[in-house]
Amino acid sequence: MSGLVIAVDGPAAAGKGTLARRLAAELGLPYLDTGLLYRATGRRVLDDAGDPRDPAVAAAAASALTPADLARADLRGPEADMAASAVAAIPAVRAALLEWQRDFGRRHGAVLDGRDIGTVVFPEAPVKLFVTASPAERARRRWLELQAKGIAADPTVVAAELAARDEQDRQRAVAPLKPAEDATVLDTTSLDAEAAFAAAMALVRARLPRTPSNSA
Ligand code: C5P
Repeated sequence: MSGLVIAVDGPAAAGKGTLARRLAAELGLPYLDTGLLYRATGRRVLDDAGDPRDPAVAAAAASALTPADLARADLRGPEADMAASAVAAIPAVRAALLEWQRDFGRRHGAVLDGRDIGTVVFPEAPVKLFVTASPAERARRRWLELQAKGIAADPTVVAAELAARDEQDRQRAVAPLKPAEDATVLDTTSLDAEAAFAAAMALVRARLPRTPSNSA
């Protein structure tokens, strides 16, 4: 499957990361969590006590990213979430990160998850999934993730933060969160990870009749 690009987009906590990682493993493709690029950019701005909404500061941070930034342990959590979403609304930040994502995908093919992979980064990808779930279910999953990490959180606050971030990602002028016209929407509200993976693989096989596991 070398050379194949699969786009997995959708709102926060819909299950895209789990699904994309598993598709990549199944198909022998590299995986890229593109949210990390925005998170690392936001984190660099916060490190210097900058404002993530400041275009010049945020664009400079995006241009200066190194692999070590992507491996930082502090890229998750409410502050990092909102800083990522703020820098992601700035066109110069998106421009600075675009070629990096394209180069990654073109090298050997890849499964990429994010918000604009199917619409902007790889509009020609042969397989595009838009993974979603109800706001209540997504908030429940995010809350469970925090619990598992031992982080106490108020479920109402978690739900409000997710809603605010999704709204910001949907409303921005550049590369807003939305399904590509040729994307398949996968609603995982009542699907577990196994069922979501089975549905995604069925789509991959339908789109790419020569998928190796098709012959299984
Ligand atoms: O996917 P994740 O929740 O880690 O993404 C963090 C933020 O980065 C999102 O809320 C969104 O604003 C931004 N993002 C984006 N485009 C992508 C991936 C993430 O705008 N392809």
